[in-house]
Amino acid sequence: MPIRYKCRHCETEIGQLPFDHIDDQFLQKHELTQEDQHIYIKNGAEGDYTVQCICEECQESLQKFPNYYALKKWIQ
Ligand SMILES: [Zn+2]
Repeated sequence: MPIRYKCRHCETEIGQLPFDHIDDQFLQKHELTQEDQHIYIKNGAEGDYTVQCICEECQESLQKFPNYYALKKWIQ
């Protein structure tokens, strides 16, 4: 199962990686803790994974308007 990367702000699919499971190495690579795993990685119905990250466009917006980052609505 590929792991899908989706922007958590605009839902754009950023890409896919051919990982078949999430292990410690994967978490380290993404600097995620076990706790983050539950927040950012969603298990799909077919045993697939979606990692919620941020696309370049939203990253730029956040840099331009850092105040948005404080808004929970924006982060959802
Ligand atoms: Zn985005």
